[in-house]
Amino acid sequence: MSSAVLRSAVGARATAATCAVVFDVDGTLLLSNRSLGSYELLPGASELLGMLRERRVPFVLLTNGSAYPPAEQAAKLRAAGLPVEDEQMLTPSSIAADLMRRRGIRRVLVLGLPGVGHALRAAGIETLYTGEPGATEVECVFVGWHPECGMKDIETACHAIWGGARLYVASDVPFFATKQGRTIGYSFAITAAIRRLTRVPMTLTGKPSLQALRFAARRLGVPVAAVAVVGDDPQVEILMARRAGATALAVTTGTTSREEWARQTDLRRPHHVLNDLREVLDWVAEAGAAPRAAASAALSSTKRKPCDVLE
Ligand SMILES: [Mg+2]
Repeated sequence: MSSAVLRSAVGARATAATCAVVFDVDGTLLLSNRSLGSYELLPGASELLGMLRERRVPFVLLTNGSAYPPAEQAAKLRAAGLPVEDEQMLTPSSIAADLMRRRGIRRVLVLGLPGVGHALRAAGIETLYTGEPGATEVECVFVGWHPECGMKDIETACHAIWGGARLYVASDVPFFATKQGRTIGYSFAITAAIRRLTRVPMTLTGKPSLQALRFAARRLGVPVAAVAVVGDDPQVEILMARRAGATALAVTTGTTSREEWARQTDLRRPHHVLNDLREVLDWVAEAGAAPRAAASAALSSTKRKPCDVLE
C-alpha cells in the first residue's frame, strides 16, 4: 500500500483519494519582486512540479492574479524555472470568460490592464474600457488588476451598474505575499469603492469562490473532492478547499506563519501544514489511479470513484 493510500486509510485527510493538485502561485510556489518584475522560486517548487509531471499526476496553477493572460503568465513562470504548460495556468479571467460565455454575456466593461480582458476577448466577448464610446452600456463590469485605476474608472463602472450591468470581480483578497511582504490587491480596493456606491452583489471568479475550484477540477478532469489545494492563505485557498470538500494543504512561505496556521479554526484550518513543499507528493495518489482506458467506462457508472477521469 502506498503512503498516500495509507494516509487515506487512517483518515488523515478528508477525501478517500486525492489524485490532482491545484497550486496557489504567490507565496506558495514563488515570491514576486514587484519593483523588479521578477520571480524568486520558493524551495522545492520546481522539483515538485517536475516530479508530479514525471508521475503523471495532473496539476494546475490557480492564481488570483489577473494582470497577464494565462499563456503569457505561464511563459514567465517557465522562464523563472517552473515546469508549467500554458493550459496548466488558470487565472480569474479564464474563469470569468467561461462563466460569462455560459451565461450569455457578450459585452463587458473591463477595469484592468489589457491582460485582464484577454481571456474574455478570446472567448468572443466584446471588452470596453473607460472613455470608449458605449462603455457604460454593457451587461457586465469586470474588475481585475488595475494599478492605474482612477475615479473616472470607478464612475464609469457605477454608471454601468446603475444601468443594469452585473459586477464580476477577479479577486476580493486584500493582500497577497510578495518579496516585499504584504502587498495590496488592487481589485479588492476598487471593488470596495464600487460596491459602497452601488451596493450591488458581486460574482467572484477567483479564489475562494467555488466557481474557481470547479473550473480547476474540470480542467484537471477529476471531481472537486479528489483535488488537493496547496496555498498560503487561510481565507483563500484553504477556505475554498474546505468548503468544496477538497484536501487543504498549507505552506508557511507566504502570508501565514506556522503559529498563525495553528490558530485557524473550522473552514480555515488546513488538513496539514507542509514542512516542505515536496511533501505534497505524500498526499496524492500516483497517476494511474485513473487509467485513461477506464475513464469512459467510469463515466457511464453511477458510482464514480474519486480518481475517475471526467473526459
Ligand atoms: Mg498566495
